[in-house]
Amino acid sequence: MTFSISGLSESILSAVREQGYNEPTPIQAQAIPAILAGQDVIAEAQTGSGKTAAFLLPVLEQLSKGETQKAKRIRALVLAPTRELALQVNDACRVYSQNLELTSMAMFGGVDAEEQKQGLIDGVDVLIATPGRLLDMIYQKAIRFDELDVLILDEADRMLDMGFISDIRKILERLPEQCQSLLFSATMSDGVQQLAQTLTSDAVSFSV
Ligand code: AMP
Repeated sequence: MTFSISGLSESILSAVREQGYNEPTPIQAQAIPAILAGQDVIAEAQTGSGKTAAFLLPVLEQLSKGETQKAKRIRALVLAPTRELALQVNDACRVYSQNLELTSMAMFGGVDAEEQKQGLIDGVDVLIATPGRLLDMIYQKAIRFDELDVLILDEADRMLDMGFISDIRKILERLPEQCQSLLFSATMSDGVQQLAQTLTSDAVSFSV
């Protein structure tokens, strides 16, 4: 597959070309069409496989077509285990969405929450958050997910290893039931499989 037949529009393809990506990696070739088709996806993919673009490119494509593009309400939520990964995903999101009118923000603990709260008030389309800080924001009623279209769990195995399972379950309870669910994990441990079952019952699974 080439990027040009992947179903992504020119605004995103030109950003991808600018990064020097010539063709999709195996996980991208599998996941991009499935995500664009609205399917839930469970993917076993390591760091370095191109997994970030595998979920960001189709999600940004869908958001850019959404009727509420200027509403600036959270429509995609990425849960990531660490501040470092959240920042990395946010950087990638900004690069891939450079030609789109979408905003993104990374949210994590260990820093003052006020700036993050202001970011939410200003409006964010794609929120990339670590579970603990996100749950704090939910409890403080600083965040709403009424218009969430898609949830992405990135590095799910690491989130479980770091003891985030109960936070993740509490977050899931507060998200709209009908949203599309994507899970990426380097390994498919029993814990990850259980979490995947909680998340979705009709996902397509990929392993690279
Ligand atoms: P990730 O697995 O998401 O951490 O991505 C690993 C690295 O691969 C990142 O530096 C990306 O910029 C790069 N990358 C992602 N997709 C492609 C692609 N299709 N071709 C070349 N490099 C890519």
